[in-house]
Amino acid sequence: MRIGICEDDLSIRKVLTRALEQAGHTVVAAHTGSEAIALLGPDADLDVLVMDIGLPDADGRDVVPALRSAGQHAPVLFLTALSATHELLGAFAAGADDYVVKPFEIKEVLARVQALALRGRPPAAPSDGLVLDPTAHSARAPGGRVLLTPTEFRMLASITSRPGDVVRRRSVVAAGWPDGSQVSENTIDSFMRRIRRKLATISAPVEIETVRGVGFRMAEREP
Ligand code: CA
Repeated sequence: MRIGICEDDLSIRKVLTRALEQAGHTVVAAHTGSEAIALLGPDADLDVLVMDIGLPDADGRDVVPALRSAGQHAPVLFLTALSATHELLGAFAAGADDYVVKPFEIKEVLARVQALALRGRPPAAPSDGLVLDPTAHSARAPGGRVLLTPTEFRMLASITSRPGDVVRRRSVVAAGWPDGSQVSENTIDSFMRRIRRKLATISAPVEIETVRGVGFRMAEREP
């Protein structure tokens, strides 16, 4: 199998790479969020992606939905430090399939990677022409590049990472706000208006539709 790893800690990356290679897998390794975007996209043809949450240039929970928006559909195993297990609350909203807390037993990681590879994920069509950058919280389209706030980025990524699906309002809130936040409907709608305006400024080829009473869906923009 082909396993992608994104981990900035050299010793952990080495231990993981060696163990996975000894188990017969091919490893594609990245050190940072920007390297992950460059190396671990859909062209990497991965069976499983192992993603650290605390990266020097990005949050792993922003990198995964950006990769998913680009068409990467491999199951994701998140790594988090024991001192930062609160990070896991947002990990499932960001598309985690499973997680391991550091320090870990390498056998446990191998077993979880195997289980995820068997489970697989249905392939997803990428959000054509819209590229999300998790290191800058920006979006790029034929008409240019626009900066988003972290909340806008996470709301948008939660929708574009599931092309064709109606994403429930509460999933969008779980992606954009800390666990347990009370967010009013009006707040969600005003954030969504700002996101739509920003997408319009870069002539994004996709738009975010409101599905009344349910949530939001990414769609091709009508010409
Ligand atoms: Ca780290």
